[in-house]
Amino acid sequence: MVAERLDGKACAAEVESSLVPRIMALKSKGVEPHLAVIIVGEDPASKVYVTAKQTGCERLGIKSTKYSLPADVGKEELITLIQTLNADINVHGILIQSPLPSVMDEIGLTELVEPNKDVDGFHPHNLGRLVQGRTDGLLPCTPSGIIRMLEWAGVKLAGARAVVIGRSRIVGIPLSLMLAARGYDATVSIVHSKTEDIDSICRDADVLVAAVGRPGLVKADWVKQGAVVIDVGVNRVLDSNKEKGWSLAGDVDPGVSENASLLSPVPGGVGPMTIAMLMTNTVFAAEQY
Ligand code: NAP
Repeated sequence: MVAERLDGKACAAEVESSLVPRIMALKSKGVEPHLAVIIVGEDPASKVYVTAKQTGCERLGIKSTKYSLPADVGKEELITLIQTLNADINVHGILIQSPLPSVMDEIGLTELVEPNKDVDGFHPHNLGRLVQGRTDGLLPCTPSGIIRMLEWAGVKLAGARAVVIGRSRIVGIPLSLMLAARGYDATVSIVHSKTEDIDSICRDADVLVAAVGRPGLVKADWVKQGAVVIDVGVNRVLDSNKEKGWSLAGDVDPGVSENASLLSPVPGGVGPMTIAMLMTNTVFAAEQY
């Protein structure tokens, strides 16, 4: 078997097209959807992600404003900015680009964002709704993008065994909650760095998601014949064939393609879906305002 490519780029393009009439309807009522992005420090990967998010906004006619703060910005200054954006009736979404410098309390700062403007879906109010099984609000973008991509490809989740590798607040845990929620109805196992016999647990999966950050961790013999495999990992690996000296690799070894039926590529899989869901959340937040 050679896996079919699960084309996140194509799915994201469809999701974004479906937003156009909603954005036009908002504008006809005098509302211009507006995303505020806060970036602290000089992390190169964060800068690339923020540019991609702002480009997504431009593509769709969503206004975006970037607030770049130095790594040593005072806590008070950052809090004042968040409070100002919370109070601004012309701002509908607020995103604090992760990771913040390690000395900052990222979770505490995220809690300061007004839940109705929390387009990242990381506020305890929005994560709490997800724990209650309510999937109709602002959901974290990468997990909701993965679910949307699986639905788009016609993957049957009800009754399926899903294994999620990784238990982060950003991907693994919210994705596991969503997959298990009523309406999606998968049976979910979460595995992580302390899990024993991880390969045999993964071999049980009808849907296997790798959200780890270890290039090529998932090998072909971890994957059942015909399984659907979602590669969330974004890893820079040395590559002498590239002018820049590196290329992007996922968490899934290319050999997995021999066993999987569908496999999301890196790049071009989960990444574009994350942006498309951020755009969706921003439009949703503007509609609810
Ligand atoms: P994270 O917070 O570092 O979490 C990584 C998870 O992987 C942790 O739960 C960790 O276990 C687990 N892990 C580490 N080594 C492992 C191993 N050898 N075996 C099994 N589990 C292991 O990372 P994250 O934020 O979830 O991101 C994961 C990856 O996805 C990264 O490459 C990131 O760049 C990428 N990502 C991509 C997008 C996108 O839009 N494409 C969005 C978000 C993230 P412990 O909890 O035990 O430490």
